[in-house]
Amino acid sequence: MSEATKTALMAVYQRLFKAFGPQKWWPAQTRFEVMVGAILTQNTNWGNVEKALNNLKQKRLLSPQALKKVSPKKLALLIRPAGYFNIKTKRLKNFISFMFREYDGDLKKMAREDMAVLRHKLLEVSGIGPETADSILLYALDKPVFVVDAYTKRILYRHNMAQQDADYHAVQDMFMRSLDHDVSLFNEYHALIVRLGKDFCKSNPLCPQCPLNSFHYSLVHKCSRCHRALPSKRDRISAKAGYLCCECDAK
Ligand code: SF4
Repeated sequence: MSEATKTALMAVYQRLFKAFGPQKWWPAQTRFEVMVGAILTQNTNWGNVEKALNNLKQKRLLSPQALKKVSPKKLALLIRPAGYFNIKTKRLKNFISFMFREYDGDLKKMAREDMAVLRHKLLEVSGIGPETADSILLYALDKPVFVVDAYTKRILYRHNMAQQDADYHAVQDMFMRSLDHDVSLFNEYHALIVRLGKDFCKSNPLCPQCPLNSFHYSLVHKCSRCHRALPSKRDRISAKAGYLCCECDAK
């Protein structure tokens, strides 16, 4: 990765940190709660996950031993607020089986595992994809790995820093090769991206109020309003926030 990419990624980080401040992730009391939350948060919002986690807490089930013992039926009922509760019950049970098979259900043993080895093993657990595995590694076990999500891809694409079809590992590679492997930096950066995505970079982006509004790192010029690529000078009209396409300029 070029020095320019590193500079751009750090500039984005600094702008977001200045705008939003520390995000204090992950919102959980224990490492194990982070792990369970990382699985429950698949395809749902955090509010629903919190309800499911509270149910587990009330029944004193937020430990590897307790989740191993609880019946799938009871577990499904308790995590119902997180959605896809039958699938997530299986995923949690798969994860717990893995923890006991590989580490005797001991988080400290798990944390001592080499990061690449552990990541590989996690990805072999049915229902654990790269984002969940990396969230567990970074936020529960303090391993220096960058977590990518749909917001990361969308924001990089909209700012011409990644292709629209860039896959998880291509985007992760960009961060991992450009930035220091610093757990605190990776922790905060991903949390800030989620905040940016939720508050501003939605499907219909709120660019005028966004902290990245005047941030341009362009390999290809794009319209700063509709994000359409502007291949030639004829198609673009210089504007305060970069360039506009003819259509947006005419509106
Ligand atoms: S809302 Fe607009 S300015 Fe903000 S990150 Fe998304 S595309 Fe960029």
